[in-house]
Amino acid sequence: MALAQRFDLQQVRSDFPGLHVEVHGQPLAYLDNASTTQKPKAVLEAVRALYETQCANIHRGVHSLSAAATQSFEAVRTQVAAFLGASEAAEVVFTSGTTEAINLVASSYGRRALSAGDRVLVSEMEHHSNLVPWQLLCAEVGAHIDKLPLMLDGTLDLSQLDRLLTDRTRIIALSHASNALGTVNPVAEICARARAANVVSVVDGAQAAAHLPVDVQALGCDFYALSAHKIYGPTGVGVLWGQADLLRDMPPYKGGGEMINSVSFEESTWAEPPQRFEAGTPNIAGVVGLGAALKYLEQIDSADVLQHEMHLLARATEGLSALPGVQVIGAPPQKVPVLSFIVQGAHPHDVGTLLDLEGVAVRTGHHCAEPVMQRYGVPATVRASFGLYNTLQDVQRLISAVQSAQGVLT
Ligand code: PMP
Repeated sequence: MALAQRFDLQQVRSDFPGLHVEVHGQPLAYLDNASTTQKPKAVLEAVRALYETQCANIHRGVHSLSAAATQSFEAVRTQVAAFLGASEAAEVVFTSGTTEAINLVASSYGRRALSAGDRVLVSEMEHHSNLVPWQLLCAEVGAHIDKLPLMLDGTLDLSQLDRLLTDRTRIIALSHASNALGTVNPVAEICARARAANVVSVVDGAQAAAHLPVDVQALGCDFYALSAHKIYGPTGVGVLWGQADLLRDMPPYKGGGEMINSVSFEESTWAEPPQRFEAGTPNIAGVVGLGAALKYLEQIDSADVLQHEMHLLARATEGLSALPGVQVIGAPPQKVPVLSFIVQGAHPHDVGTLLDLEGVAVRTGHHCAEPVMQRYGVPATVRASFGLYNTLQDVQRLISAVQSAQGVLT
């Protein structure tokens, strides 16, 4: 492993070509990192090199190119296992993203584990991709969803947890960090309490993985999902980490090539995990790009990065809170650098449109977390989210652009 370098912001910025485009004649202030991050050259080059020098299908060819591509692909599984603190690479399943990873758990593990009358406990701050798959499953098997309530400070009401972990509860689904509020949940504590009640935990790590060290064993969860594109890797690739014992007992999720042991016309037997869950040709170049993203992140001191991102978050929170008529949503004690706010008298979409004209890219809407919006009684928010390459100037431009938008809209 390369030794981590001190964090050099200007160097980092020069690694990301996507930051250096103009929007409406303005330099880009990209503050939509919770949606997706820009990609460093190392990732773009890795994807290109795969197609240029190792363009072959994996796991099947005897020819050299196929063997090389397979090796490159499988090496990333080992990298991801190390990134997540997994005990073995076979616990790492490649998917198309967090959404598919959670659907995989719901369809495969959930369908087998749940019967009519059972319960799934879902936090109220989940992204739709960690709620809707459970709704679909529960409707199919006659199970019920319980809500782990969100409080207005942006934290979960853990005083309700033990009551909600009933003897019929089989699964708890929660995010490591909220995409709408930035809240970092006390996942280790929640998973320990769930495990004590024999409840399997499914953690959505989509927003945490870019900012926080993740150690699935220390977290004590059973499944952990993430998306490559939110950690500076390509779109269309994600990871499901699952406890080996659980994966081994799970039925396939999709049928097709590469997930079988043997097939006759009448019946088939399944490959061991992770291949059992990876039917069909995967996103080979995307996985290799994820490997390059992880390598890129490894070279930079992650504690320095987090400190930098938290500094940006603090300055942005202060600056926006100081504007009369701007209300920051939620104030949890521990956050990833995500800031949701509303401007009184202005619709978030209008604010976002005016910010875009200034070259400031933010997300507006319900952030695929409609229950969170309902909890706060707002239809939508403006969300600024920071990445390792953002600057104090980006923060200043955000604050000034919001102030100008207020002048126009209110
Ligand atoms: N969970 C959270 C917390 C997210 O922020 C997102 C993406 N916005 C997802 C899940 C879904 O990720 P993907 O679209 O990459 O599957």
